[in-house]
Amino acid sequence: MEPLHYPIYLTAVFKQIGDAYLTERGTELKYSREENPTVRNLEDKLAKLENAENALAFNSGMGAISTLFLSLLKAGDEIVMSMEGYGTTIEVPKLLEKFGVRVRLAYPSAEKICETITSNTTLVFIETMTNPTLKVIDVREVAKKCREEEITLIVDNTFVTPILYRPLEDGVNFVVHSLTKYIAGHNDVTGGVILWNGKFLNDLWDWRRRLGTIIQPFDAWMVERGMRTLNVRFEKQSKNALAIAEFLQDHPKVRKVHYPGLPSDPYHGIARRLFRKDLYGGVVSFDLGSEKSALAFLRSLKKIFPSPSLGGVESLATYPVKSAVKNMEKETRDLLGITDGLIRLSVGIEEVDELIEDLDRALKGC
Ligand SMILES: *Cc1c(COP(=O)(O)O)cnc(C)c1O
Repeated sequence: MEPLHYPIYLTAVFKQIGDAYLTERGTELKYSREENPTVRNLEDKLAKLENAENALAFNSGMGAISTLFLSLLKAGDEIVMSMEGYGTTIEVPKLLEKFGVRVRLAYPSAEKICETITSNTTLVFIETMTNPTLKVIDVREVAKKCREEEITLIVDNTFVTPILYRPLEDGVNFVVHSLTKYIAGHNDVTGGVILWNGKFLNDLWDWRRRLGTIIQPFDAWMVERGMRTLNVRFEKQSKNALAIAEFLQDHPKVRKVHYPGLPSDPYHGIARRLFRKDLYGGVVSFDLGSEKSALAFLRSLKKIFPSPSLGGVESLATYPVKSAVKNMEKETRDLLGITDGLIRLSVGIEEVDELIEDLDRALKGC
C-alpha cells in the first residue's frame, strides 16, 4: 500500500526498548515533542521549496524565531535588527536584554543596517519586505557585509515567499517563515520554520525539544496541504494586489499607496533586481489621511474581513497603528511613514473586480 498523501501520525510516543529508533538525520524518534514523522515530512517539503539542506518546523513563526534567538545568542552579544519589522519579533531580543544581550535597531535599508553593525555585532535579523510599509531590503548587500564581518544573518522571508526570492542562495545563514501566512495560506493554522544549509544543528534541535516549540502533527499536515497550492495562490494574490494598488493610486480619497509592484514605488527597482518573477506579493498598504477615515473605512467593508494577519486566501484589512505597530513610538512611526491613516490590506484569491467594488464603496463612506 502506498498512499498519495503522507498520513498524520497522531501519537505522542513510539516504541523504544533500550535505544530509540534513529531517524535518517540522526535524531531519535521516541516522543512527539522531539520528532514526529508527519513533521519530518513537512520539513522535507519546506526544505525543497526554499532549496535548503535542513529545516525544522515549529508551532508558530514566533516559536521558530524565539527558539533560533535562544540557540544563537549569549550574554555580551549584540544583535542588529530593522526598526520596522514584525513587532513580536523585535520584542524577543529586547526581553533577552535582561540576560546581557544588546539590541541595536536600524532604519530598514541595506545601507543603514550595514552602518549600524559594530565590532560587537554577532547577529543581524532582517525581513526581505517590511511590515506595514513594504520596504524591500537589498538582502544581497547585507549578506555581503555579514559574510565579510563573519556575522550570522537571519532573514524573515514571510512576505516574499520562496516563489519570489530564496535568501539562502545569496549566502544568508538562516531563513525563517511564519507558515501561518502564505505557505499554509488558509488562515486556519499557525506554524513556523527555520531553514539553513550545511550540517544539521543538533543544538538548535535540542532547543526546540527543551522549549517544546515543535509543530503538532495535525497542524503539520494542514500546512503541507496548504503548501501544495502556494504557487497558484501567490501568483493570483500578487496579480490581484497589483490591480488594487493601481486602482487605489488613482483614487481621490487615497493619499499614498505603498506597493513595490508600482513602477512609481521607491522600492520597485530593488524588488525587480531581487525577485525571480515579475510578481510583488499580496500585501498593499495605503494612507487615508486620518485615524477617523481609516476606522470608518474598515467599518464599511462588506467582503474584505477586518483583521490582522495576512497571506491567506481571504482578503483581510487591518489598521497597523492599533495592531502591528501599536508598541512603536510615534517618532519612529513618523520616520518610517507609518501614518495615522494607514491601512494594510492582505489580498486574497477572490475575483479582483469584487474586491475593488468593496474597496470603492468603503472609500466612499470614509
Ligand atoms: C506573522 C509573522 C511572524 C510571526 O508568525 P506567527 O506564526 O504569527 O507566530 C513573523 N514574521 C512575520 C513577517 C510575520 O508576518
